[in-house]
Amino acid sequence: MNDILEIFENGFINNKYETYYQPQYNNFTGMLVGAEALARLNGPDSMISPGVFIPILEQNKMIGKLDSYIFESACQFLSKCKQDNIHLVPISINLSRDDACEDGFIEKLNDIRQKYDVDPTLLRIEITESIAFEGKEKAIEVVDKLHKYGFIVELDDFGSGYSSLNILKDVDYDILKLDMGFLNDDIKGKGGTIISSIVRMAKWLKMPVIAEGVETKEQVDFMKSIGCEYTQGYIYSKPLPEKDYYTLLNQSIIGLTTSNMQLKDSINPISFWSEKSLDTLVFNAYAGPAIVFNYDGDDTVEVLRVNKKYIKEIGMNMSEEDLVKTNILDTMDGEAAQIYKETLQKAIRSGEEEECETWRTLSSSCCGNEVMCIRSNIIMIGKSENEYIFHAAIRNITGEKRKMAEGEAYEEKFRNVIEQANIYYWEYTVATKEMRPCFRCMRDLGLPPLLTNYPEPAFEAGIFPLDYADMYRDWHKQIANGVKHLEAVIPLTAGRVPFFVRYDTEFDELGRPIKAYGSATFVTDADIESYLKKNNKI
Ligand code: C2E
Ligand code: CA
Ligand code: CA
Repeated sequence: MNDILEIFENGFINNKYETYYQPQYNNFTGMLVGAEALARLNGPDSMISPGVFIPILEQNKMIGKLDSYIFESACQFLSKCKQDNIHLVPISINLSRDDACEDGFIEKLNDIRQKYDVDPTLLRIEITESIAFEGKEKAIEVVDKLHKYGFIVELDDFGSGYSSLNILKDVDYDILKLDMGFLNDDIKGKGGTIISSIVRMAKWLKMPVIAEGVETKEQVDFMKSIGCEYTQGYIYSKPLPEKDYYTLLNQSIIGLTTSNMQLKDSINPISFWSEKSLDTLVFNAYAGPAIVFNYDGDDTVEVLRVNKKYIKEIGMNMSEEDLVKTNILDTMDGEAAQIYKETLQKAIRSGEEEECETWRTLSSSCCGNEVMCIRSNIIMIGKSENEYIFHAAIRNITGEKRKMAEGEAYEEKFRNVIEQANIYYWEYTVATKEMRPCFRCMRDLGLPPLLTNYPEPAFEAGIFPLDYADMYRDWHKQIANGVKHLEAVIPLTAGRVPFFVRYDTEFDELGRPIKAYGSATFVTDADIESYLKKNNKI
């Protein structure tokens, strides 16, 4: 025993203790949000686990030495990251019950922190609920003191061993660490019910929850389904030596840390995320194609959920996984991304639904690249300090857009043909008595693009001779009464040149006249003769 103690004690002198870091991730966005510092001892033959040396250090009143050592190395590490201009995420550090209760210990930690000039909110002190054995007052005193120095306080190992709900109510912890170890794969049974109740309760108390000891995808899916945001466990990473964690930190996308996403008051966070809730049922079955995503206020849109109709609307045989992995902004060119971001900002400011249309290029393994136009109706449903959750109802309007573009091209061609064929044409709207002339009418007759109270302006402009005015007025009455077609030879323009004038009426689905299309073409003498004959005028 003495040999072992010697190893432990000498470890401090010979720098045999090492700090490992186990990363913590946001389950929904996959972002790195923090890490826990865990002690390791380089033994004579192999690495000795804290499960072995911690109880012995505790028994021999040496645990304070270890805790302050690990705390100092974490401060040193954060200070180095700051110097190297690497994004900083908080580090959780374990504090034994004995240290927490020792006079002057927390002050000592604060001195170390000051020495390295580390922001105290980057340091999260983990204390286990066993502190409650010292009495409620002691627990409150310790947490208050840690808060006084600006540290964040985590309640460690909640759910294992002796869990008191009272301690949550009475002591002001900032973050709850939930031990999944006791679940033993019992997600579907009582264990799952207990965990989801704890997460729900933490939400009510506005405490973020970090699930610990998460090993399987099934467990992650379950934690997501009950709205638990953060995970630390082998599923993502084992504890890493400092240099490996440094590399990881350097490469990771850094997420938000403590902020707890506040959903809109009308949305219940539990049922919103739950796979079996009514909200989810509505999202999947009754709503149209829709997507829920997280926006960082800058360039990252992380998809949290898509519904089945969304997958169908986007098509391309893409899986939910593919769609969730895509940063929507990356599918757009600079201009479209700008429009989309502006719409998000507008939705943040207004709190109302905002609409935009953006072209995107999506890639799938089976269909390659496809360009599509998506109309999005976006509303903000949740918000934290620097992150937002949005719901977007979408429609793939690529077909409509293409048709419209084809229509425009068609119109252009039509105009050229009309020009060549010497035709004047115009569109008359029955309900408003508005007339829209063709380009040629505007150019040759000096007409504006829109004439109201038609046909009166045609007489005022002298295009129609006054002796034809009553007839031409009557045509418009007939059109309003539903006549399908009208035609006559009328001498038009200042030169009173004979034109063949025709109208064809367009009707809506109930047979009501909406528009009439008028045209005037030059006629030859032969045309006039045949027209007069056809109409029994000669
Ligand atoms: P803990 O605070 O609950 O730390 C989490 C432990 O769970 C770590 O064990 C970690 O390696 C392990 N773990 C992480 N993910 C998984 C997983 O997915 N599955 C399983 N089965 N285990 C996982 P570790 O590093 O052996 O530490 C054991 C305990 O020793 C810690 O439990 C903590 O209570 C204590 N400890 C470690 N370092 C320190 C320290 O610096 N000071 C004090 N006072 N206690 C420490
Ligand atoms: Ca811990
Ligand atoms: Ca723990």
